[in-house]
Amino acid sequence: MNYRNRVGSWLFAFIVLAAHFWEHSYSLGLWLLMGLQFIVYPHVIYLRARYASDPLAAEIQNLLLDNFCFGIWSALLGFPLWISYTLLICGCINMAAFSAFKGVLQALGAATAGVILVWAVNGASFTPDTSLLVSAMSMACLSGYLILFARSAHTRTVLLSEMRTKLRQSEAGLQRQIESIQSLQAKLTEQANHDPLTGLYNRRYLNDSLQREFDRCARDGAAISLLLIDLDHFKKVNDLYGHSTGDEVLCQVSALLEQEMRSSDICCRYGGEEFLLVLPNMGMEAALERAQHCRKRVAEHPWSTIEAKLALTLSIGVACTPGAGATPAKLIRLADQALYRAKAEGRNRVCGSDLDTNTEASTAKSREHER
Ligand code: GH3
Ligand code: MG
Ligand code: MG
Repeated sequence: MNYRNRVGSWLFAFIVLAAHFWEHSYSLGLWLLMGLQFIVYPHVIYLRARYASDPLAAEIQNLLLDNFCFGIWSALLGFPLWISYTLLICGCINMAAFSAFKGVLQALGAATAGVILVWAVNGASFTPDTSLLVSAMSMACLSGYLILFARSAHTRTVLLSEMRTKLRQSEAGLQRQIESIQSLQAKLTEQANHDPLTGLYNRRYLNDSLQREFDRCARDGAAISLLLIDLDHFKKVNDLYGHSTGDEVLCQVSALLEQEMRSSDICCRYGGEEFLLVLPNMGMEAALERAQHCRKRVAEHPWSTIEAKLALTLSIGVACTPGAGATPAKLIRLADQALYRAKAEGRNRVCGSDLDTNTEASTAKSREHER
């Protein structure tokens, strides 16, 4: 990341130092060392970071090494003011970009270590003056570095903004995907719980919810009633008007039954032309009344699809808790027995069976309602 900036700015620093060296006639050895430091060194440490297992950590070490070297050069040359200032402020800015104020302190610490090393080996010297030319070149070097630094910051800001835009776009895409998955899930749940022909709940949903409703009513000390409904002589409808008319009649009966439901009731297609209505918090009297209402509603419905000669009627078996050892399966069996009686006694009627007063092989209390 810093490769181009470092190579460029160190080359610039080399030119400034070369001018200073020229004015002070430094030895060939020092010239060589300076060349190695400001021209070769940036490439070497770039490669070190490039192939390190953790390039970022290696680069921060490189920056500290830069500052250590700046300390050495500043002390070695007797702290030429503009040169030392340029080197040290650039080193501090580099470290600040990575580690904020902590980085500045680390940069100053590394530079001080370099100074102490030179003082320990060479002794301290102090010749801060630089010529006008070198001072101006240092200023230009510093300005060039700052502009390079700002350009990098700009490039990173642009990259960051592009990445944010992409992130926002992919987030929006993800949100759309989540929404479509959620709506698909809702559709699947709907399909899994409903009968495709009538739209009523199916047996699967009934199995899931009946025990729950039972438990809830038992907890509340309330009754729960079941209405098992079977269309009378429905086979004739199919035989006379065709299967698709039969389907249409099934849908219309379902719609009529649903209209009779409270929001807490469960209306389920139990089999081919059989329906099971679960009525929580409803005792036998009210359930029988409701069953009668459903029966009359269908019997009196003006069927547009079938001719008048075939009247469509329902037989309904009603079963109700409370009762000792009431279970959903037991109650369904009782409703089935009551329905069987309703059929046996002539159809188009409602028969009730109460757990309180009946055993399973019930001689059920039956209410017959002739048309
Ligand atoms: P009962 O009064 O004794 O109930 O006579 P039923 O004819 O209704 O009884 P049965 O069980 O003999 O016949 C039920 C008929 O319901 C047979 C079958 O073709 C029809 N059926 C079941 N499911 C469907 C369906 O989804 N669509 C149509 N159109 N008919 C169906
Ligand atoms: Mg049947
Ligand atoms: Mg039938």
